[in-house]
Amino acid sequence: MPASAADHDTMREQLGRPMRGVIGIAARCVCGNPTVVATEPRLPDGTPFPTFYYLTHPGATAAMSALEATQVMRELNDDLAADEDLAAAYMAAHVAYLADREVHGSVEEISGVSAGGMPTRVKCLHALAAHSLAAGPGVNPIGDLALARGTWSPERCTCATPRTTG
Ligand SMILES: [Zn+2]
Repeated sequence: MPASAADHDTMREQLGRPMRGVIGIAARCVCGNPTVVATEPRLPDGTPFPTFYYLTHPGATAAMSALEATQVMRELNDDLAADEDLAAAYMAAHVAYLADREVHGSVEEISGVSAGGMPTRVKCLHALAAHSLAAGPGVNPIGDLALARGTWSPERCTCATPRTTG
C-alpha cells in the first residue's frame, strides 16, 4: 500500500524524524495511521537496511520496549530452544521475511539476514512484532506471542493524533 503525504507526516510525528526509503505502509492502526512501514533494502544514501518491516507506532514500540525490559526475552529464547515446532515456524518466518524483501531488490551485504534475531534467536521484539502486524497472525510465531503479551493492540487506537478522515 503506497504511503501518502499524510502518512509521511504522521511517521515524521511518530519517529521525530523523516522516514527514509519508504516503499509503502504495511500495517495500520484502526484509525488509519501507519503502524508498520515497508522500507527499501537499500536506503537512498546507499546504506543496506535489513529491517524491511519497521515499527513506527509509538504505542507499539513502547509496548515492545516494556516487554524487552522483562524476562520475556529469555523466556522466548528458551521456548525457541526447547520447542522444535516453534523453531521450525520461526525459520519459516525468516524465509518469508527474506522473500517479501527480495521483491524490492537484492542487496548483497544483507543477503540471508532478516531481522529481530531470526532465524535462531529473539533479539528485537519491535522487528518481530512489525513482521506479525504486516503479515497477519500465523506467520511469525514469536512476533505473534510478543503482540499477545504486550499492552498495545492494533484494534484499539491510542494515537496521539488519530486520523479522522481517510
Ligand atoms: Zn490510531
